[in-house]
Amino acid sequence: MFGKSGFSMPVRLTEQINDTSDYPDVVEFLQPVKIEGTLKNENEFFILEAKGDAEVMLQCDRCLAPVKKHLCFKIKERFAHTGKSNEETETFSGDQIDLTDFVRRGIIGALPMKVLCSEDCKGLCPVCGKNLNEGVCECDTTYIDPRFESLRALFNVDEEV
Ligand SMILES: [Zn+2]
Ligand SMILES: [Zn+2]
Repeated sequence: MFGKSGFSMPVRLTEQINDTSDYPDVVEFLQPVKIEGTLKNENEFFILEAKGDAEVMLQCDRCLAPVKKHLCFKIKERFAHTGKSNEETETFSGDQIDLTDFVRRGIIGALPMKVLCSEDCKGLCPVCGKNLNEGVCECDTTYIDPRFESLRALFNVDEEV
């Protein structure tokens, strides 16, 4: 499969990922993941440079509504054949390179830190769970975010002085 130094071959791959357990926040891959690039042989190393595209369904952090997202990512990896490896390179054996790990890393790296269906998503009511984007509920709105409890206690102390 692999030729001499200077050799270069196109890499094209489409892969449907059904198991999303490795991908935090991904509900579903809507289309097969596409990878396109080249694999070059330079001396004893192989260099893979590719770009990938994925179409995923995520979930709004606040209201859990589905959010569709297109992910673009780049893969650049250096490989050495088993036996010629050092700590900085990936290795492979035989004449096959398994791209699964690199594709997975690329996708995870491209996932947004924060997923919102819209910038002003109102989220879910913390009491009844109603989606507040669809309307208000009858819950007691004096609910205090537990993160602010300590702050409030601090103010109370001040008042007593
Ligand atoms: Zn939302
Ligand atoms: Zn409510």
